[in-house]
Amino acid sequence: MPGEKEYFLPMLQLSSKSVAIIVAHPDDEILWAGGSILSNPLWKCFIVCLCRKNDSDRAPRFLKSLEALRSEGIMGDLDDGPDQVPLDVRIVGRAILKLLPAKHYDLVVTHSFGGEYTRHVRHEEVGKAVIHLWETGKISASELWAFAYEDGKQSYFPKPIETGTLYFPLSQEVWLEKYRLITETYGFDTQSWEAQTTPHAEAFYKYTDPMKAKESIKVDDDSV
Ligand SMILES: [Zn+2]
Repeated sequence: MPGEKEYFLPMLQLSSKSVAIIVAHPDDEILWAGGSILSNPLWKCFIVCLCRKNDSDRAPRFLKSLEALRSEGIMGDLDDGPDQVPLDVRIVGRAILKLLPAKHYDLVVTHSFGGEYTRHVRHEEVGKAVIHLWETGKISASELWAFAYEDGKQSYFPKPIETGTLYFPLSQEVWLEKYRLITETYGFDTQSWEAQTTPHAEAFYKYTDPMKAKESIKVDDDSV
């Protein structure tokens, strides 16, 4: 994984940035990046959520989440059945390109190709697909941040990896808003996995070179 860890304070990140957030499910934008979005009001975010466009419960909640995050966004209807049938990374890539406005982004934020916990195939596929699109020039971005969380092989709720390249502790105010979005806007019970997970800090692996990002994916993985 890349370089040295960087710590930063939210209020120091006051530059305007064009940011694309690309996630698998409605709620991923809050759980893994919501605090960063809320802490950086000058980011102009476009949030792509690849699954659940036709889910009459989750889709309207995603729209409310966009409002709270002062972001634009769009949903797709990529397969998200309970069987989690693996999808070819090219199919996921095409779905992303259909939804993401074609322009240059200062920053793209997405899932890690290793996922955030044990284990959600769609998360890993989205992470790989975004890196593939970046590396082949189909997504134009100055840098990419991949979510950096792990759950000790399900021995605890996912937590941010402090040895990622970015580690971003949230203020209590920001965390409370994030928790409100998970429990009220998305309606998860306080005892749910999502509510109990809601991380107090957010961590990312930061890449500025698409080749390096691609090299980080296991060399024996020929899916990208
Ligand atoms: Zn998800």
